Amino acid sequence: MGANGISQDPFIHTWKPEDGAHLGFGHKSLLQSDGLYQYILETSVYPREPEPLKELREMTAKHPWNLMSTAADEGQFLNMLLKLINAKKTMEIGVYTGYSLLATALALPQDGKILAMDVNREHYELGLPIIEKAGVAHKIDFREGPALPVLDQLVEDDKNHGTFDFIFVDADKNNYLNYHKRLIELVKVGGLIGYDNTLWNGSVAAPADSPLPEYLIYYRPFLMELNKALAMDPRIEICMLSVSDGITLCRRIK
Ligand code: SAM
Ligand code: CA
Repeated sequence: MGANGISQDPFIHTWKPEDGAHLGFGHKSLLQSDGLYQYILETSVYPREPEPLKELREMTAKHPWNLMSTAADEGQFLNMLLKLINAKKTMEIGVYTGYSLLATALALPQDGKILAMDVNREHYELGLPIIEKAGVAHKIDFREGPALPVLDQLVEDDKNHGTFDFIFVDADKNNYLNYHKRLIELVKVGGLIGYDNTLWNGSVAAPADSPLPEYLIYYRPFLMELNKALAMDPRIEICMLSVSDGITLCRRIK
């Protein structure tokens, strides 16, 4: 650091907020600039975004909690991933208005299934007409309520063990490790669990006393604990992707 508190790194010197470097929180990406993120969206994502997903995204943008919605680049990634692994039976914890759910439903074959859970049905129902119009609602089994008791019920029956090809977790971050204990039984050996927001706006690497918004401070320790636990878990291989707010993919190996 120089005397004025500015880094002496010549590259860092070239960055100013007005260049589009994003210094604030609440962004959908950890990239070095908003301009670069916009470039990705406009060049590669929006031109290929299926019409129903665009409609759902635009509808959700008017909703007061739209910050929760899965970003379009992450939706595109999920869609590609599900096709690559030939996913047929999936689960989603945390639906909101359904962007990731619809991205999943569009990627699955006609007889594919998604067990979707959220404590809030109202938000799911905002997106449901668009999901129905897209002709994929028959793939979705939506359960209103907390996910944990549903998972406990599934785990109780051996027939459900090792049956899910893909599970996307995007709900209450303080419960991710509780979910993991159950999901590891339910996902196939060779199947994937994706934990979303594992970089938590970059706050997982911020100094402990950083002045962060309350919601980041509250959930940060849970994500830091999760990240450590996943890295140590011998039952999975992991890959932490810096797409969107961080997605950790866990491939069950035993
Ligand atoms: N995947 C969604 C999308 O693409 O728009 C975003 C999900 S949003 C980040 C988190 C969701 O988790 C909220 O809709 C919230 O109601 C739900 N949620 C919170 N606690 C939950 C719980 N215990 N069980 C199930 N859902 C929960
Ligand atoms: Ca998310």
